[in-house]
Amino acid sequence: MSHRLVVVGAGYAGLLAAKRLDRLLRRHDVIITLVNASDRFVERVRLHQLAAGQRSPGRPSLRRQLDGTSVRLVVGRVTAIDAASRTVAVDAPQAVGAPPASIGYDTLVYALGSGARLDDVPGAPAHAYAVADIEQATRLRGRISQKTTSGGTVVVVGAGLTGVETAAELAESCPRLRVRLLTGADDVGSGLMPRARSHLRYALDRLGVSVHTKAVVTEVREDGLDTCDGVPFAAETVVWTTGFRVPEVARASGFATDEDGRMLVDATLRSVSHPEVYAVGDAAAGISPSGAPSRMSCQSALAMGRGVADVIAARLAGAEPAPVRIGYVFTNISLGRRDGIIQFTHADDSPRRFVLTGRAAAVFKEAVVRSTVRKPRGGSVCSG
Ligand SMILES: Cc1cc2nc3c(=O)[nH]c(=O)nc-3n(C[C@H](O)[C@H](O)[C@H](O)COP(=O)(O)OP(=O)(O)OC[C@H]3O[C@@H](n4cnc5c(N)ncnc54)[C@H](O)[C@@H]3O)c2cc1C
Repeated sequence: MSHRLVVVGAGYAGLLAAKRLDRLLRRHDVIITLVNASDRFVERVRLHQLAAGQRSPGRPSLRRQLDGTSVRLVVGRVTAIDAASRTVAVDAPQAVGAPPASIGYDTLVYALGSGARLDDVPGAPAHAYAVADIEQATRLRGRISQKTTSGGTVVVVGAGLTGVETAAELAESCPRLRVRLLTGADDVGSGLMPRARSHLRYALDRLGVSVHTKAVVTEVREDGLDTCDGVPFAAETVVWTTGFRVPEVARASGFATDEDGRMLVDATLRSVSHPEVYAVGDAAAGISPSGAPSRMSCQSALAMGRGVADVIAARLAGAEPAPVRIGYVFTNISLGRRDGIIQFTHADDSPRRFVLTGRAAAVFKEAVVRSTVRKPRGGSVCSG
């Protein structure tokens, strides 16, 4: 009987894993199924651009990206995994009224990614906007386009990479908006070398983004937000970017997870509780060179997507695979379309002295983003 390989989630990690497995296992008796909530590959790293009203380069549908492979695509939402019967329950929106599909597996790759962390403070789920998935970014885009001509205030909460990029992009694309960036930390750009940090400050200032540090938000309201030191901020739009939350599917299905619900894996990305299951990308707590859980990033997702395919192919061939190396090379930050920061890093994600800033950094980042997904059979990173 054919070996049934199922990959759930077709983001950076899952799509790369499925395509690479197809390539590595051409001569094996395997059936590879890729399950994803929609038929489209979402370039999450561009969602702040989408929110700011920019057009992003068109990407082929998942079906087109899988042209030339034998990967079977199922479009539907994974609701549960039954580890005892080795089945994945899929709610298939394309078959409205039909009972949920159940897909059996011998080996499963869990790659469901992450979404916005909107439940951190009261009022945020009801009143805040986000950029973590395409629906949220599109909703924010609608809100911003209403305000583009009339002006208004946008407060971006969270000065991690997503918050900084979103604030910069909104300020550059919509100069009539007043953009504020709030962080509970005492500075922006932690993890950057001093030169990169001062460029970040300079760029935000140039774009007119006002930065408010040590501002811990206690509640989001329809007309703004409150902070713990009692200072209210009035805003027509609050954008919440304080981090990502992973889907509950792994934890609710009884897999070993960390406290955030990321699947716990060993150095070969294999679940520590269920050896026939692997996890990759944001939804996995991979082990990075520092020993810390992998950073939720495209860089980790691609390394894990590639690595898991090699591991599974080796095990199916009866060999013991090498550990998957999730090393880092740089942190890249866009500051609008004409400015940016590339902070080069050691493999353990600590910063090197070398930093690129300005237009060269913007060009560098755009090239990296383009290289992650190219046309089908285009020899890109995601082509495996
Ligand atoms: C605005 C923004 C900017 C960013 N910029 C950068 C950057 O510059 N550099 C960087 O390294 N990282 C960046 N990131 C982070 C990066 O996008 C993520 O770390 C990366 O997308 C993770 O890849 P993944 O494959 O694990 O998950 P995802 O890309 O999230 O893919 C998960 C897939 O699973 C699907 N899915 C989820 N739940 C289900 C379900 N129940 N059933 C079926 N399918 C499901 C989703 O539809 C999606 O296709 C950014 C993120 C955002 C939001």
